[in-house]
Amino acid sequence: MAETILINGGAGFIGSNLVHRRHRNHPNDRIIVLDKLTYAAGPNQIEGLDRMELVVGDIQNPELASHLLLENYKTAKVFHLAEESHVGRSITGPAGLIQTNMVGNFSLEAVRQAWAWQQDCRFLHNSTYEIYASLGETGYLSESPPYATNSPYSASQVSRYHLVRAYHQTHGLNTVTNGTNNHGQRQHPENLIPMAKGEPSPMHVDGMNVREWHYEKDHCAALETVMIKGLASETYCVGSDNDQINLAPVVMLCDLVDLFLKRPRGTSRKGTTFVQDRADHDRQYAIDAAEIRNEVGWKPQNSFYENLERNVAS
Ligand code: NAD
Repeated sequence: MAETILINGGAGFIGSNLVHRRHRNHPNDRIIVLDKLTYAAGPNQIEGLDRMELVVGDIQNPELASHLLLENYKTAKVFHLAEESHVGRSITGPAGLIQTNMVGNFSLEAVRQAWAWQQDCRFLHNSTYEIYASLGETGYLSESPPYATNSPYSASQVSRYHLVRAYHQTHGLNTVTNGTNNHGQRQHPENLIPMAKGEPSPMHVDGMNVREWHYEKDHCAALETVMIKGLASETYCVGSDNDQINLAPVVMLCDLVDLFLKRPRGTSRKGTTFVQDRADHDRQYAIDAAEIRNEVGWKPQNSFYENLERNVAS
């Protein structure tokens, strides 16, 4: 069945990959992207697609949100991925992030009002595992709290999460996913893996932090599956079972880049400087993804190494 879907933040990293996936797999869909086009956006990544309309605007504009949900759009599915996403920037200049991530999420009110008359509307809020407390040496995070905020970024994420949850409890509006660290095509160059893919240059990495890595294509598949099969009341942790210290993917990646660029093995590793951890940096994150697997039937397709190879080759 042909649908109109709205992707907030669809010119960003995950959003643009979702746009392409949706465009490929749903040849009759109309895709509306609402994006403010901040430094993080790559509008050229999605331009030229037929059946896709890029609306440059702010999620904080309730009139625009209503317009895109009603009028001649009649959108009944929203993937909400618009945010200020960089932890480091949240420390040096938090104002824009607080505005977009905390105040901006109040656009939910416009969604609620627009959908008051409709059944079967879905609002999927995509968030991150950084809303949870950093783990100790062992264990896994699951959908249940405790929450903890060690940076303005994670504080803004917890705030968004609670507001979305409240809108579900009060108005029955949504479903939520919390994902792990993604890598893949169309990622902003300031992130760890795109940095490693570039020319050898100093990369400041605390190699002992544990993160769970996920391929963007798997993440987008999870978003689509949850949008269709997820229970509106649920939060799903989208995990890859691939938690490891940062040192491991960086070294693997450096060697893959050398192989791919036909450089002597070890060239890229030389550019990596391992530094002391930042004060706000959470030590260990890993997810127990049992719920999304058992309840929704989604799981990642390939191994971490295979996905890293695909990323380097892309
Ligand atoms: P991103 O920074 O690459 O993209 C965010 C997009 O939102 C950009 O295109 C930006 O222009 C747009 N935007 C920012 N403020 C806006 C505003 N006020 N109005 C409209 N558009 C605005 O971020 P991303 O990495 O693609 O993350 C997208 C979502 O996925 C987030 O909700 C994030 O929590 C979640 N997520 C990301 C990862 C990851 O590793 N990147 C992992 C798990 C979950």
